[in-house]
Amino acid sequence: MDPVIIVGAGPVGLSLSLALARLGVPSVVLDETTGQEDTRPARTAVLRQDTAAFVSRLGCADTLETAGTHWTAWRTMRRRRLLERIAFAPQTPDGAAAPAAVSPVHLPQHALTRALRAALADEKLAEVVTGSRLADLEQDEHGVSAQTRGPNGTWWRGSYLIGCDGPRSTVRKLLDIRFPGRTAVERHAVAALRCELPWPGEALLHRSPPRHGGGPGNEVSARPLADGLWRLDWLLPPGRELVTPDALVARIRDSLAGWTTESPADAARTDGGAAPARGRGHGRLVPPYDLLDTGVHTVHHRLARCWRQGRAFLAGDAAHLLGALGTQGLDEGLRDAENLAWKLGLAWHHGASEVLLDSYQAERRGAVSARLRAADQALPLLRDGRSARWRTVLPGAVRGRSTLLTDGHLGRGPLGAPPVYARTPLAPPTAEGPVVETPPGAAVTDVPVTASDGSAVRLRDRLGKGLLVVLVAPGTGVWDRRHWQSAGLMPRLTEAVDALPMDAEILVTEAYPGAAAHTVLLVRPDGHLVTTLSGVRPAEMAACANAVRGRAYGGEDGQEPGSGRARRTEGAGDSAGSRDGGDGGAGGREARGRGADPGGPGAGGTEADGTADSRSGDVGSGGTGRGEGGPSAVDPVRTSMFHSEGD
Ligand SMILES: Cc1cc2nc3c(=O)[nH]c(=O)nc-3n(C[C@H](O)[C@H](O)[C@H](O)COP(=O)(O)OP(=O)(O)OC[C@H]3O[C@@H](n4cnc5c(N)ncnc54)[C@H](O)[C@@H]3O)c2cc1C
Repeated sequence: MDPVIIVGAGPVGLSLSLALARLGVPSVVLDETTGQEDTRPARTAVLRQDTAAFVSRLGCADTLETAGTHWTAWRTMRRRRLLERIAFAPQTPDGAAAPAAVSPVHLPQHALTRALRAALADEKLAEVVTGSRLADLEQDEHGVSAQTRGPNGTWWRGSYLIGCDGPRSTVRKLLDIRFPGRTAVERHAVAALRCELPWPGEALLHRSPPRHGGGPGNEVSARPLADGLWRLDWLLPPGRELVTPDALVARIRDSLAGWTTESPADAARTDGGAAPARGRGHGRLVPPYDLLDTGVHTVHHRLARCWRQGRAFLAGDAAHLLGALGTQGLDEGLRDAENLAWKLGLAWHHGASEVLLDSYQAERRGAVSARLRAADQALPLLRDGRSARWRTVLPGAVRGRSTLLTDGHLGRGPLGAPPVYARTPLAPPTAEGPVVETPPGAAVTDVPVTASDGSAVRLRDRLGKGLLVVLVAPGTGVWDRRHWQSAGLMPRLTEAVDALPMDAEILVTEAYPGAAAHTVLLVRPDGHLVTTLSGVRPAEMAACANAVRGRAYGGEDGQEPGSGRARRTEGAGDSAGSRDGGDGGAGGREARGRGADPGGPGAGGTEADGTADSRSGDVGSGGTGRGEGGPSAVDPVRTSMFHSEGD
């Protein structure tokens, strides 16, 4: 079968390619750039536990360790008051910590992208082709043909094509998929600097800081990076006001002076006492700092109407733009890649199931649209100061605004928590199993497990391949593996798992939150719980596995017409790396002889793009760059704009 074509070598495209390679699926990543990643310290990523674990599994654990940092605490301040301080548990040597108290990983995006590229360089099943701008694509029932322009311009043939080509996605335009939403819902001036702040290692969200007039719209965050660096973000007032270099430097100096002259005693006040009056606004010393990078991060809210069209898919910024109130667009992009990889893996090896392939859009678009709706509802209420209304609209009405913002930043609640695919089309038809703390469709807890070779690992370490069948068996830890493998439920469980219609691995755990002994958890390759069973139930397990792979399709029990086995179409020719359901060739490269057209760019849509791009030079030049298009290109603002699949 032909390789998968991935358009765009950003973090989403690269991680998807790596995840596919780990599943034995060849891919080629086409990118228009030279492949040299700019060093941009102000463009950072905040990875929550699930996405950090995903990129770790892809071979980037060292980079997360060296280039990333775990915050030791999160502070929320308002004016001079410390409203909340959340301390994070230190990471244990095996990377584990109490889930509720784990800091996200904060690292520069260029470090992540370089690490993904380095990991891909060792992959025989993946190839990154730079200097290749996608200009055209065609689909037929057997595959996708993609034309590139540039130094390496040619035609490529693939089994599937994924547009990971960012906010201005050519793939999205070529597929004529609309990208409605809202432009510039938030703007932040951003800076990366080296300095010492009074809270080393702790991230800070400061609302209405006194140095900026203390008004309700003012907000600044300071989040530590590795090597003594900080990323500072200042919420800008609505509009297109220029952020001149002088204005940005003034903000930096104001913030640093305000924070560093605050005594530790003042900073620790949580009792709501009045602010100390001394020295306010004048004559404070600015501590030394080294400014490394600046930019303006303009946040747009957009959601592609459709994420799959035949054999073509959208992922990452090509499919969605978000980022207000602490939500993390890249986190969602990585979740897209993880969700799609195992589904394409099943389709590539065993034949496609429409239900399985459609479930990508149902799950991921549904999750992102829910996130966007939550942010859309919260934005006017949080930013406009209409305090009476917000309490009635938002779930968790008694929580304060600051808590809501903190949730967004820390990956909790509707703005930040990992998605639950509760209404997935891949849900098994079986009756509900025993209740555990994780509901079906949610991400499982990362408990210690024992693999069948006796190795003691974390549950998350085993994700990414087949189905995981986790038996809760208290007491197994004290037994020798030879004994428990042939005792109790294990022989029957092994037999049942061997008979499953998809790859599966048995793991044993001493305990799982809320689970009784002998509960069996079925876990998808992306870590979401399929269901629980009480003991070994071979027929139900098989039904669940069938549900996970899109029910009755695929492999021997019902190949869908036009999917699966690699076939050539007229003039497209065979791929040198193509195998029929096999393991694919190295990189799977297949240059087409249909004439590399050196002409202009591919057909472009007229939809407003929306982009968050900016560079150091943007400061003072309008900052936000393109994409703040006129109203004609943008859907009217309404809170129901982001429809989920079920709406
Ligand atoms: C200053 C700044 C700060 C940010 N801060 C955060 C943050 O704190 N948290 C967060 O989550 N996100 C943040 N972002 C956004 C984040 O960078 C994006 O969400 C992320 O880069 C999206 O990754 P992606 O792989 O989907 O797309 P991209 O990174 O945009 O990659 C797309 C790739 O596709 C290639 N490409 C485009 N068109 C074509 C074509 N026709 N043919 C071939 N190749 C093509 C491009 O060259 C590029 O390599 C920030 C962005 C900026 C600018």
